[in-house]
Amino acid sequence: MLTFQQFNLIVKGKLVQLVQPLPIVHLLTDSRKLSQPAGTVFFAIRGKWNDGHEYLAQLYSLGVRRFVVEEQTNAEELKQQYPEADIVQVPHSLEALQALAEWHRTQFQIPVIGVTGSNGKTIVKEWLAQLLSPDELVLKSPRSYNSQLGVPLSVWQLNSNHSLAIFEAGISLPGEMEKLQPIIQPTLGIFTNIGSAHDEGFTSREQKLEEKLKFFTAVDLLFYCSDYEQLHEAVQAKGIPAFTWSRKQKADLTIASTTTAGYKTIIVFGYQGQKQRLALPFVDEASIENALHCLAVLLYRKVPLSEIQDRLEKLQPVAMRLEIKEAINGCYLIDDTYNNDLAGLNIALDLLASQPQRSNHTLILSDLLESGLPEKDLYASVAELVQMHKVSRVIGIGVTISKYSNMFGSSSFFYENTAAFLNQFNTDSFRDEVILVKGARVFEFEKIVQAFQQKVHGTVLEVNLDALVHNLNYYRSRLAPDTKLMVMVKAFAYGSGSFEVANLLQFHRVDYLAVAYADEGVLLREHGITLPVMVMNPSPDSFAKTRHYNLEPEIYSLEQLRAFLEQLPDDAPAKIHLKMDTGMHRLGFVAEDFDELFELLKQHRQVKVVSTFSHLAGADEAVYNDFSYQQIKNFQSLATEIEARLGYKVIKHILNSAGIIRFPEHQLDMVRLGIGLYGVEATGADQDALRAVSMLKTTVSQVKSIKQGETVGYSRRGIADTDRTTATIAIGYADGYDRRFSTGVGEVIINGRKAPIIGNVCMDMCMVDVTGIEVKAGDEAIVFGPQLTLVDLAKRIGTIPYELLTNVSARVKRVFYTE
Ligand SMILES: *Cc1c(COP(=O)(O)O)cnc(C)c1O
Repeated sequence: MLTFQQFNLIVKGKLVQLVQPLPIVHLLTDSRKLSQPAGTVFFAIRGKWNDGHEYLAQLYSLGVRRFVVEEQTNAEELKQQYPEADIVQVPHSLEALQALAEWHRTQFQIPVIGVTGSNGKTIVKEWLAQLLSPDELVLKSPRSYNSQLGVPLSVWQLNSNHSLAIFEAGISLPGEMEKLQPIIQPTLGIFTNIGSAHDEGFTSREQKLEEKLKFFTAVDLLFYCSDYEQLHEAVQAKGIPAFTWSRKQKADLTIASTTTAGYKTIIVFGYQGQKQRLALPFVDEASIENALHCLAVLLYRKVPLSEIQDRLEKLQPVAMRLEIKEAINGCYLIDDTYNNDLAGLNIALDLLASQPQRSNHTLILSDLLESGLPEKDLYASVAELVQMHKVSRVIGIGVTISKYSNMFGSSSFFYENTAAFLNQFNTDSFRDEVILVKGARVFEFEKIVQAFQQKVHGTVLEVNLDALVHNLNYYRSRLAPDTKLMVMVKAFAYGSGSFEVANLLQFHRVDYLAVAYADEGVLLREHGITLPVMVMNPSPDSFAKTRHYNLEPEIYSLEQLRAFLEQLPDDAPAKIHLKMDTGMHRLGFVAEDFDELFELLKQHRQVKVVSTFSHLAGADEAVYNDFSYQQIKNFQSLATEIEARLGYKVIKHILNSAGIIRFPEHQLDMVRLGIGLYGVEATGADQDALRAVSMLKTTVSQVKSIKQGETVGYSRRGIADTDRTTATIAIGYADGYDRRFSTGVGEVIINGRKAPIIGNVCMDMCMVDVTGIEVKAGDEAIVFGPQLTLVDLAKRIGTIPYELLTNVSARVKRVFYTE
């Protein structure tokens, strides 16, 4: 194993201090993901939103003793602060990490398949790993670890047991592939396709193609579909050795036909002069394309056709996401039945460890298959991961993991198989905890997931946590470096689920949260949220609660301040926020209140004013710009006076989401982000920069044929002018589906097609016209989402996206996921 001196030579660093020449096992780039301090080297990377150097002290106190830092740091100070740590200074920490991975890669002379392309690369990687696993010990990058940071971390997992590796590379800017190629050094390549993803980072599609092809400069063979003409020409022009497949022209693998038969697709193809046929267990176009890339590789590797058919049969659709759902008895469930190698387990355990809403954490884990480690070492590593992530209880399912039960400590339970576990399953033994369910496909853990799920009707609001982070970062990119960020999580985080959203915001280190009522803040505290929380509308009877839960009230009137002070125990310190009314005329002080306001505050010096703020009445509409500027000006003069009278500085803030976009020069000390986080850009100007966060889905309960002249629903409002087919879907106004969507105003998407509402929306259901669409009971209907936007739907019924979002009723189950 690599010692720190060797390590230093590889990353070409300057050794600041060398205390303990121990081997290096784990690479850490995110301080929140520390699991095994002893073997860890921490790379302090300066990211866009965070600087790893700020976490050195914390990591040192947790036992990390090896740091890679950048040159701007002061060597003498580092030595003093971290006397027991090995420290290397480098010009650029990320590049040092990449250099290390590049060196590590050169230690292995095995086939390495590199996958890139606009779509499907993660699935192709996952499937290929499944398909090749009977012959090889495969290492694959976990999930979509395909970035400048993810790739080196993936390659670092290579060890001498692996006989083949598959790595994914994704780029969004020119210059990135040149860095990934030497780290992966693929010997074989797959280029899945070229589409519009990440076009914005490049001057043209050609440039993007050119850049991606740099991945394959040294491959023995590149697999791709020659029907992508632009791609085909570019590969030929470069003279890259190729294995092509095509449905249109002659290729190494020529697809003669693809026909759907029930839930299968029969493909007839020519290969090496012979005509063959195979059945794929899918019918959708994307899966077929992904499977054909895999087929090409299998044929090239001379896997016999019967064997290929066998393995293809067993291919499972890849669940691309990690879901967090509410479950029985106040439990939360992290559903990860997708990835069962060690790296995947580590990622899922990180997610488990970052769920403070319940203090007990249970892991249900099957045997791990295909890790490339000797069994005993593998389960020792699993046990170590479990311990480092402070898992309170382990339930191991499978013969192999059961063999190593003694490694897992006292709170662990083992079963030979899934059926044995379910046989004795008792809901009472799971209460108020977070449960990670993670198992290899063959263990059919979806049965366990079902046993834990709360029974609910078929309507769910899916919240895409990655989209939320994307939007957060978009707004951050619009802020000056020292502008603080308060995020509004009032009204159940605009309908999206307050503590899940708050937890993510806490993880991503926003500065402040704000809620409307004290109870909303209490809920956050009870779920482990420790960020400062401002309460915008605290009633006098909730002041005790705000104190007890360390919530910070907004104070907007003299009357309210008096009530607050009356209840404040002598000398008890308190933090408050002063709201100014500058033209919204909702809540807030005006200048005339100041004499009395500051007199009261003078008498209660233990009360600290943390911030003062005001709210814009028309930030989303350009016609009110003059009014907004006037409000900002008024606020600034009030704020100046407040600071003068108090004799200390306070945080000043006025911009909401729309204001951040429209008045970037008036960020002051902090901004208050609301609707933008949830995917709606209120000015409309930058809507394309945001991602849709929530998708409301329901299911079809019944399909009916309606004869011409018959009517549908209450008051006979849905009239069939010709013979029609209708579907009854399980959502109504009690779920928050507005009654104004009745009679064709609204529509939903079923099987990719738009279906208008027919008749009146009922309380729990409504009917849609699905004439000409293939629909059966149980199919999914999308009520809003990326394809059916909140902005568009709100317009149709004369309201705003805020109302549609916050109206989704509490009985609709929220499911959170990350990709
Ligand atoms: C809700 C709210 C915001 C956020 O507004 P958005 O338009 O959703 O960005 C900001 N400030 C105050 C006082 C609010 O009540």
